[in-house]
Amino acid sequence: MKTIGMIGGMSWESTVSYYQALNRGVKEALGGSHSAKIWLYSVDFDEIQTLQHQGKWRQAAKILADAAVGIEAAGADFLLICANTMHKVADEVQAAISIPILHVADLTAEKLLADGITKVGLLGTEFTMEESFYKDRIRENYAIDVVVPDKSDRNTVHNIIYSELILGQIKDDSRQRYLEVIDQLHDQGAQAVVLGCTEIALLVQQHHTKVPLYDTTEIHAAQAVKLALADCVN
Ligand code: GLU
Repeated sequence: MKTIGMIGGMSWESTVSYYQALNRGVKEALGGSHSAKIWLYSVDFDEIQTLQHQGKWRQAAKILADAAVGIEAAGADFLLICANTMHKVADEVQAAISIPILHVADLTAEKLLADGITKVGLLGTEFTMEESFYKDRIRENYAIDVVVPDKSDRNTVHNIIYSELILGQIKDDSRQRYLEVIDQLHDQGAQAVVLGCTEIALLVQQHHTKVPLYDTTEIHAAQAVKLALADCVN
């Protein structure tokens, strides 16, 4: 089994979801008491989110790159950046190490393509919904049209992430707001909605809506398990 490297803590609430999904995936595949081999570096998210909101991405990238170097030196075979937003600096992190980063947007887009989705809604932080590093990668490399909520809804989605979900606060009225936004994206022609922030599935799950949801945490973890077990015989 290969060893999975993780940069987590962004936030730790969603790193818990990753940790469970990775271990459950390995257990499901290999049975018994098998579990995932993992090197996890968990950041202090307050430092990261402060740098994000100050636009100091180079400093944030340095924290992640240093973590990645440590994870590689410890013996991980590949790396997960356990957040969508911080993929904004994935190239800088990749430049610091020689093990591959499994890019969450690529894995999500591959799954959308395999399912025949040509137009998708995207929910995430304002960084993820508004900047090019995520949307354009999906649009340009996979020819999938990406729609995002309007400015005011993007702001609502963003604020719920940073003021509730990363703190582990799950509120019914926030779920309702998200479901309204998901319906609006569907009305605009999105065949499915990408939960492009690793905490959103803590709030909204498939049983809450008929619109197909693509949970990036689940997709990212499932592909990591697949890669970790690629050379396993049993
Ligand atoms: N976990 C989130 C994401 O997937 C948001 C927190 C962050 O800014 O890293 O984008």
